[in-house]
Formats: sequence, structure tokens, C-alpha cells
Amino acid sequence: MRLVFVGAPGVGKGTQAKRLEQEFGWNVVSTGDLLRTAIAQQTSLGQQAQAYIQRGELVPDLLVNDLVAERISQMESFILDGYPRNVAQAETLEALIDGTLDAVVLFDLDEELLVERLSGRRVCPSCGAVFHVKANPSQRGEQCDRCGARLITRNDDQPETIRNRMRVFREQTEPLVAFYEAKGLLRRVCANGTPEEVFLRLLSAIGQNGTEK
Ligand code: AMP
Repeated sequence: MRLVFVGAPGVGKGTQAKRLEQEFGWNVVSTGDLLRTAIAQQTSLGQQAQAYIQRGELVPDLLVNDLVAERISQMESFILDGYPRNVAQAETLEALIDGTLDAVVLFDLDEELLVERLSGRRVCPSCGAVFHVKANPSQRGEQCDRCGARLITRNDDQPETIRNRMRVFREQTEPLVAFYEAKGLLRRVCANGTPEEVFLRLLSAIGQNGTEK
């Protein structure tokens, strides 16, 4: 299965992508995670991307296109989480995989709820687990349930940057909805409710009920 996940920041794309990966073994490719790793490792890509991410802007297409192409060239199945983010990236992806996308899932949620989700989000810098102070707190308080590392708030989850990321989503990423709708690939999933409720809607949207590894 080859899927693209589209949705505003904080909508829960990453959480749902990881669930699908656990259930079916499809590879999640998250450009946000790859870029954050590059920054942590201070690679040349990380150094180039850092300032854009801190401002809540998109990293230049050339950088992310190469990153994704390198990753997915050998993959049978994948879930792209956070890529493409604009129509130019979508056209590059199309040329790369030659019309083999099965579906594009659009996660929908009110902006007010998005801001609440983002500002309460806590992530583990060590294993990548994601929590929310109210909706999904770590049982160990400020420490990660899974590996014990101290949880952090992502730099770009600060209020000013959140507003900028929302604007960038509306201006640059939302045009993808019409782009993929015209190709008959778009599936809408309401992202309100618990991760479990959203996951069930997601399975039905992509026509999956059983388990495939
Ligand atoms: P995310 O974790 O998907 O919210 O991404 C965090 C940040 O990484 C975004 O605000 C962008 O600055 C950058 N980023 C992630 N994916 C892309 C992409 N496909 N194109 C450009 N920038 C991206």
C-alpha cells in the first residue's frame, strides 16, 4: 500500500501513521522526523533546514524531494507523513513513483482543537514517542513511558510558530486537496475523538480491515 497523509499540524497524522505501520508493516516516512534527526545530528541538511523549521516555514523543495526520493526508492509500501506539502512536491512525487499511489488521506479538524493539541504535545527526544499533557499523558509524568528520557516540547510547537505553520498549511498545503481530489485519490477522515476512534475511520477510508505484514 502506498499512502500520503495530508493534514494541518497537530491533526494526528504521525500517530495514525505509526499505528498503521504497527498493524500492517508499511514503512512510515515522515519528512518532519527525518529533518529533526538531521538537525540533531548536525548534518549539512540539518544545518540548512533548521532556520526554516524554527520559523514554521517550509524547507526548500529541493532538500525534501531528495530526502524522500532516497528513502522510498527501494520501498514496496509506504506512508508519507508530511510530504508532499505543496503542489510542486506532489508533482515531483508523481514523476518519481509513476502514479502508483493508492490513496491520499486528508485528516480534518477545527483549528481551535489543532492549537490545543499542538500546545499540549510532548515528545520524547530519544525514542520519538508522542504524548499529550491532557489527552495522552505519560504515566511517568515528565519522563517517557517507553524509554525514561525527559520529554520536551518541540521548538516549533511554541504559539508564534504554531500560528505561522497554520498559515503555511492554508496557503501552500491545502491546494493539494483539489490536486488529489481531481485524481480521485482523496479520502477524508474526521480527526476528532480518540486516536482509536480515528484509527477505525482511517481503516475504513483506505478499505482495510484485516492484518497484512
Ligand atoms: P512536521 O513534523 O511534519 O510538522 O514538520 C515540521 C517542519 O518540518 C515543518 O514545519 C517544515 O518546516 C518542515 N517540513 C516537514 N515536511 C516538509 C515538507 N514536505 N516540505 C517542506 N518542509 C517540511
